[in-house]
Amino acid sequence: MASGTVFGMTHSHVAGSIHADAATRVPGWLSLPSDVNALLPRLWSENVSKDADGVLQVAGVSVDQIAEQVGTPAYVVDEQDLRSRARAFAEAFAGWDVYYAAKSFLSTSIARWVSEEGLGVDVCTGGELAVALRAGVDPRRIGLHGNNKSTEELRQALEVGVGRIIIDSFDEIGRLGEIAEELQREPRVMVRVTTGVEAHTHEYIATAHEDQKFGFSIAGGAAAKALQACLESPWLELVGIHSHIGSQIFDTEGFEVAARRTLRLHAEFARTSGHELSELDLGGGFGIAYTSADTPSSPADLAGPLRAIIEAECSQLGVAVPHLSIEPGRAISGPSTFALYRVGTVKPVELDGGAARLYVAVDGGMSDNIRTALYAAEYSATVASRRSSAPPALSRVVGKHCEGGDILVRDEFLPADVVPGDLIAVPASGAYSRSMASNYNHVPRPPVVAVRDGVLRTLIRRETIEDLLALDVG
Ligand SMILES: *Cc1c(COP(=O)(O)O)cnc(C)c1O
Repeated sequence: MASGTVFGMTHSHVAGSIHADAATRVPGWLSLPSDVNALLPRLWSENVSKDADGVLQVAGVSVDQIAEQVGTPAYVVDEQDLRSRARAFAEAFAGWDVYYAAKSFLSTSIARWVSEEGLGVDVCTGGELAVALRAGVDPRRIGLHGNNKSTEELRQALEVGVGRIIIDSFDEIGRLGEIAEELQREPRVMVRVTTGVEAHTHEYIATAHEDQKFGFSIAGGAAAKALQACLESPWLELVGIHSHIGSQIFDTEGFEVAARRTLRLHAEFARTSGHELSELDLGGGFGIAYTSADTPSSPADLAGPLRAIIEAECSQLGVAVPHLSIEPGRAISGPSTFALYRVGTVKPVELDGGAARLYVAVDGGMSDNIRTALYAAEYSATVASRRSSAPPALSRVVGKHCEGGDILVRDEFLPADVVPGDLIAVPASGAYSRSMASNYNHVPRPPVVAVRDGVLRTLIRRETIEDLLALDVG
């Protein structure tokens, strides 16, 4: 370890050993970088690199150009990277249907790209459906989710002819049946079940009681009843069971347990009803790397074991392998995009026990990425506009909102000489950042720009104060 001064040059305070986590406040997973300018490739999209001056480039466009053209903050999508992740899922899961979970990150261009790469699109509101339709996605390749779909949303889904509706309550079975009869349509439906496998960030917990709003419990018997009710509804075409166990999952174990339990229900339902369902969906939730601590699997790593377990289970249960589908969101959109910010203030803060931290405040915050505040999510960051030869300093990237929890990157080493005017890039900001963005403090939401082959294109323009004032009609 370099100097023992985690804090950098302007402070002579000795922070002690980097391994003394309690004293330095450095989390155990975060190691002192040998070069604070270097990028860890698995955190960044495939066309991102730094030039000799340390300026971040994406597909031939520098962050200086991006900041000059569209300002900061901005979400910057590497189009080819997003497309290739979609394609990798389609290839690894060949023979299955892959639906892109639109809620992770959606614009008409993104919906078009994933369709062009062979994916369907999952939506869960009328708003997301409208974007997918505007993008020209074939409605038969759209799935509609949601635990409380409105009558209007269900009606629209039937009118445009979405390919499947994932049923989430007994109320919905009745409501959808009535609308279907009225419109003389027979929607294809799946029943969302809870398997008792609840995935958390890095582990899963098997619970007997699924204490959450989504789905019908297999263990409690509601799932079998919902399947029966759909089968008996003259206007619903029941095609299969749907299970989504959670998000940011790193191994196949949780999926395997969920697959076993859903297939047992599938086989049991075939026996009791005499009706063998033709489809099975295992949902999304495939994890990505946000920090050096995360080591995600590739789609190919996931597909092999899942395929094997399903085939073995079906043969043991004496049922045919149903037509399978999955719904990755984050694993396609997340790594494709970084968020670009400009530093406004830098505040050194001394902590108890001799530790110290740089609070690096940028021109965005919890309104453009709520995940750190909402889930205690971890992110990484780099100074994107120059090389630095200063030592690494334990830093926290915070926003401009009136809220102590307005943190973007909780723990990261940035060069100790980070100053106002520097650009900061936060990788893996594609999923659940723009899609969860708010106008807290009346901050207009940042634009989404795509870069491909040296060309920058705006997908979603920056919101303006005028946009916000226009909503205020009273
Ligand atoms: C959110 C969600 C997904 C996508 O989850 P990711 O973690 O983004 O892969 C897929 N299916 C359903 C039903 C979801 O709710």
